[in-house]
Formats: sequence, C-alpha cells, structure tokens
Amino acid sequence: MNMNPSGWRPEIVNPEKGADHATFEIFRTSTGNKALMLEEALIFEIGSDETTGVDLPEIGAGANRLGGLSRERPIGLPGLSEPETVRHYTRLSRQNYAIDLGLFPLGSCTMKHNPRLNEKMARLPGFADIHPLQPVETVQGALGVINELAFWLIDLTGMHGVAMSPKAGAHGELCGMLAIKAALEARGEGHRKVVLVPESAHGTNPATAAFAGFTVEDIPATAEGRVDTAALKARLGPDIAAVMITNPNTCGLFERDLKTISDAVHAAGGYVYCDGANFNAIVGRVRPGDLGIDAMHINLHKTFSTPHGGGGPGSGPVVLSEALSPFGPLPFTERYADGHITLVEEDTVGERHPDSFGRMTAFHGQMGMFTRALTYILSHGGDGLRQVAEDAVLNANYVLRSLEDVLDAPFAGSGPCMHEALFSDDNLADGFSTLDVAKGLIDEGFHPMTVYFPLVVHGAMLVEPTETESKAALDQFIGALRSVAERAKAGDASLKSAPHFAPRARLDETQAARKPVLTWREPPLAQAAE
Ligand SMILES: *Cc1c(COP(=O)(O)O)cnc(C)c1O
Repeated sequence: MNMNPSGWRPEIVNPEKGADHATFEIFRTSTGNKALMLEEALIFEIGSDETTGVDLPEIGAGANRLGGLSRERPIGLPGLSEPETVRHYTRLSRQNYAIDLGLFPLGSCTMKHNPRLNEKMARLPGFADIHPLQPVETVQGALGVINELAFWLIDLTGMHGVAMSPKAGAHGELCGMLAIKAALEARGEGHRKVVLVPESAHGTNPATAAFAGFTVEDIPATAEGRVDTAALKARLGPDIAAVMITNPNTCGLFERDLKTISDAVHAAGGYVYCDGANFNAIVGRVRPGDLGIDAMHINLHKTFSTPHGGGGPGSGPVVLSEALSPFGPLPFTERYADGHITLVEEDTVGERHPDSFGRMTAFHGQMGMFTRALTYILSHGGDGLRQVAEDAVLNANYVLRSLEDVLDAPFAGSGPCMHEALFSDDNLADGFSTLDVAKGLIDEGFHPMTVYFPLVVHGAMLVEPTETESKAALDQFIGALRSVAERAKAGDASLKSAPHFAPRARLDETQAARKPVLTWREPPLAQAAE
C-alpha cells in the first residue's frame, strides 16, 4: 500500500480504518517500557508518605510552637528514598534529548557543543563560590572576567559600550529598546512611537517593542527572503523610533542592505536595533558597528557556547553605539578615549553615567555564563572565532545542498545560505505536513529541527547544524531527514502517527501551552484503589 523507502514497516493493527486514520501499533510490553527506555509515573504517584531520604530525629512532645496553628493534615510531600529519587529524575532525564546525546538541529537556537573546559573554569571556587555583596576588593578576579569579556564583545562587534547584565536575548532586546526610548526622550522626541519589524523576525522582537511601549508595524520581505528596503525607506518619518532587524536574518540570509538601511533610518531620526542571535554566523568576519547598528544583543548561549536552559542560566549582553551608550543600564562597561575599558558599577559618580535608564537586574548578570563564554573566546582566539563562523556557514550549506533535491528549499536560488538551511513543506504528499516530518525524525533518533518558523515560509523547517558537528554526524542527520522526507513525499501513512519509539507520541501542544495543568490533585479514593 505505502511506499516505504526506509524499509521500516510497523505492524498495522487497525488497517480497516483506511489509510487516513490507520493506527499503527508497535508490540506493547507489559510494563509500558520500551527496551531500556523506562516509563515513569509522577513523583506524587510513587513512594509513600512513610519514606524519606533523610533520617530525622523524633519530634519531642510539647515542641509545638505554632500557637495553635498546627497543621491538621499531612503536608502531602512525596516520600522517596534516595535511590528512588535518583531513579525518578534519571528516568525523566532520559525521556529528553540533549546536546551531549547528538546533533540538535534547532534553527535559530544555535545548539552547539558546550566545551568541558568552560565547565572547569566556571567551577573554580574564585568564580563559583563568591557572592555579589562581597567587598569589591575580594572579587577583583571576577570583575576582571566581566571586564575582559566586555572588552572582547566590544571589539568583536566594533561597538562602543556593553551592558552585561541582561539575562537572555529577549531581555537584551528590552535593554536595547529601553535605551532607545531613553535616548528619544532625552532628545524631546518621545512622541516617536513606531518600531518597524520585518515579517521574518523572531517573535520576541515585536513582543519586546510592544512591551517597551512602542507600536509595531511589519516590513515585508522580498521574494528572495530579505527585508524589502524600498518599502522600509518609504515608511520612515517623524513617528519612527527604530527598526529591529535580524542579521543574518531568520531565513538564513545576510541582509546586504543593512548599512544603507541604517543610514536611511539615522537620517530620518530613528535608531537601528539588530537582533544579534545569529552573530555566530559572522563573528570575526563582520563587525555590526560598521553596519551602523545602535544596539544589539548577543546570546552567550548561542554564539559563545554556554548551555541553554529554561530561561534560567542565559545571558544576553547588549552592545551599544556611542550615541546610545550613555543611556544603557548599570552596571555598564565602556571604552574610553584613551582606549581602556572600564566597568561602571554604581552611579555614585553621577557624571560618569548620569543618563542611564536604570538597572535591569539586581547585580552584575550571569557570572557562570561570563566565565564559560570568556573561556570559549580565549580558547578559540580571534582566528578561531572567525573559523567558527566559517564552519557554521559551511555546515549549513552542506545540509542545504544535500537535501534540496528532496525538500523544497525556497531561497536556495538566492545563493549560499548563512548558518541555517531553510526548507518548506511544499512538495510533500497531500495531507502530509512539516509536523509529520519532525515527528518522523524523532523515531530516527534526532531532535527535530525548528518547525513553522520563520513565518514567511509555508511549513518552514529551519536546520542549524552549527560548527561543532563533524561531517560524519551531518551525513547521518542528512540521511535520516532524507529518509523521512521521502516517506512524507510518498504518502507513507505510518508517518502520520509517528513517533512510534518515543515515550510519548503526539501531544496537544496548544492545549498544554494554553491550559497547563500545574497542580497535582490526589485522585478520588475509588480511582486510587484501582
Ligand atoms: C534565540 C533568539 C532570540 C531570543 O533569545 P533568548 O536568549 O532565547 O531570549 C531572539 N531572536 C532570535 C532570532 C533568536 O534566535
């Protein structure tokens, strides 16, 4: 019935429902485990109230000092011994995918290897065991790391100053836009309220502009996937506060007109924010400062190899032009006329950073990320960083050219891509979508690429291999994606219910995002007894 180029044939349990609704079932085990991939219940559903991992002394009689407010029912915390606890979290962790397991092709996210040397440096007690409220004389080494990293970021971007404290790319965007707002207000032009954002932008760009109190207007893209410069110029005027442009953009293309755009925006009295999430594709080769950019965040967890993680341990320093630097938040690092770079920590000296829009974080930022990023920079050096960009671009072009015969590559005709290869769902069989390809890739042992982003491409699949993958790893990934794409083109119905080998298959992601169930309730007794 179905062509199956990969040769893999799941057992059809329910063929009479017809191809569209056929459900495929792999052999089920009595435990629900799939080979060494173990099922795991919620922590509240395992263990017992009687169990604990620690040995607590008996509470003596009459020790109640709660003034009559003592608890009437058990507190309901999970009760697990140490081995049960370790197994619970280890089993859960195995249901996830990690950069230490294999290639992580998420476009726009730059999931590169996290070098172990970075980890070693970040764990040195002089960096790891300090506190931001320690006397400054006792943390000179840590301040030195922040300052040296700041120096590199300023140097690599050709900018004037850098705010080190923002905690992520999106937080950095907010920092840049607040600096732009402060600069406009200082000029008496707070009435400039419109921020222009290209259609292909990451969702955080319009969200940030709106959050900072601006109105967002779209700029269309050209057929070749770049910003429509003519349309942008035509919209410039006295109400424009700024444009936010990503370069290289989210279609994986370099915005060649950026200098022309910056000049036009400046001439019209606006500022240029550059989303620097893709800086890894140009680091060591292009200095954003030379393109007339006023503010740009740098995701240390993308370009400079620090771990990504749930919005927690990120770091998104923001480099600023000379025009915007006075408005950046404290602490702030700046290059002075004689060339030296200094960290301005407090505004006690007033005249040194009097126009700052304020503070974004209580202290200096993410020390652990600073140490890791500086280690990465120093271990590569200037020439090594340039090679990072070159290899990232080379790897992405290898992926693009290896798959363009099987997947539609809408901008492949625009020339080489930068660090990301972009495909669409255009030539899949009727009824087959990008989602099916992504789910099929999970069965092949890969985390899927970024899907349905950027929005300018129908059913987008954005693959970013990064420079840290070997040719062997790329070939394996390309082979897997080719096989799944061929199944989707041939209308292989087994793909509609993929993944078959993962602990969970197709979740209702919208429902999970919109109506997350964040509390656990004890099941009613009858049900619990089952
Ligand atoms: C990752 C990314 C962001 C947001 O950065 P976070 O560090 O995740 O907040 C913004 N823009 C683009 C293009 C990105 O890829």
